[in-house]
Amino acid sequence: MLLSNFPRVSLAHLPTPLEHLPRLSKHLGGPDIYVKRDDCTGLATGGNKTRKLEFSMAEAMQQGADTIVTVGAVQSNHVRQTAAAACKLGLKCEVLLEHRVVDPSEPYSHSGNVLLDKIFGANLREYPGGTDFDQAMSEVADEVTASGGKPYLIPGGASNTVGALGYVNCAIELLDQIEDQGLDIGHIVTATGSAGTQGGLIVGLKAMAIDIPLLGIGVNAPREKQEEKVYQLACETAEFIGKPGIVAREDVVANCDYVGAGYGVPTEGMNEAVLMLARYEGLLFDPVYSGKGLAGMIDLIRSDSLGPGNIVFLHTGGAAALFAYADQLQT
Ligand SMILES: *Cc1c(COP(=O)(O)O)cnc(C)c1O
Repeated sequence: MLLSNFPRVSLAHLPTPLEHLPRLSKHLGGPDIYVKRDDCTGLATGGNKTRKLEFSMAEAMQQGADTIVTVGAVQSNHVRQTAAAACKLGLKCEVLLEHRVVDPSEPYSHSGNVLLDKIFGANLREYPGGTDFDQAMSEVADEVTASGGKPYLIPGGASNTVGALGYVNCAIELLDQIEDQGLDIGHIVTATGSAGTQGGLIVGLKAMAIDIPLLGIGVNAPREKQEEKVYQLACETAEFIGKPGIVAREDVVANCDYVGAGYGVPTEGMNEAVLMLARYEGLLFDPVYSGKGLAGMIDLIRSDSLGPGNIVFLHTGGAAALFAYADQLQT
């Protein structure tokens, strides 16, 4: 298969289910909506980073690393899944947490993912927003080396070519399920942040010569910047798997109209979407990523601007962060 030459450790429960959401679909009165349940990857409450970490962690092990160094926002789901994966593989975990959200609430600083990071025994170091993390990561790596350890660096969101392989793989898995269930899908929608999820998916779709449009809903950057980031990573990933040139710039589409005031800052649309999915389908989404992704999908369905066809929404997980937003979510 496409990825069989790459080292990989098993961390995720795969395949994740592809489920129909009949009550939500009826409520919105538009296309049939399906959800790809990557919130069910199984590691430490699940989420999309686990698929990426299967490849990142395998490379770390192959290089004989004993300490993972990674970075994320205070409520990073990536950090939580990395901390858990490190425990499972017997590695230490050094974490650089960025204070990206201004004026955080008490639960934001201590509950949700932060609590879980601490349970997994990760060493948390805190940095102000806007820190140069290439520099800061290499300083921590030097420290690990100086004390006799062997560091392996994983960038934010595990969004490099190695991590993106997890989503090349997800695209293949999803296409199998769409075919098995005999579905006619017009759009795949996902939240997009550090770009590995959307970048990997587009490479997987293109590698299988599938033309279902993929839409990323941005959670921080403006459109041009987000699309460029995804496109760059997709091109590098395509080359990495020996299929250079399969991704065109126009294959990468992001809608960044649902970010609101900024990364991790709640929006009304997010709040409505989180409650809607909970109350119509019994599903938990998160305030930072998948909730804003859903807010975008719901608005685009309502305004009839997504075009024809049924939708698969990729649930990237993150519900652990709901607890961090206990003071801000309107229920
Ligand atoms: C990291 C994350 C995303 C975004 O994925 P990227 O690969 O960083 O673009 C979406 N949803 C959740 C819950 C996440 O933790």
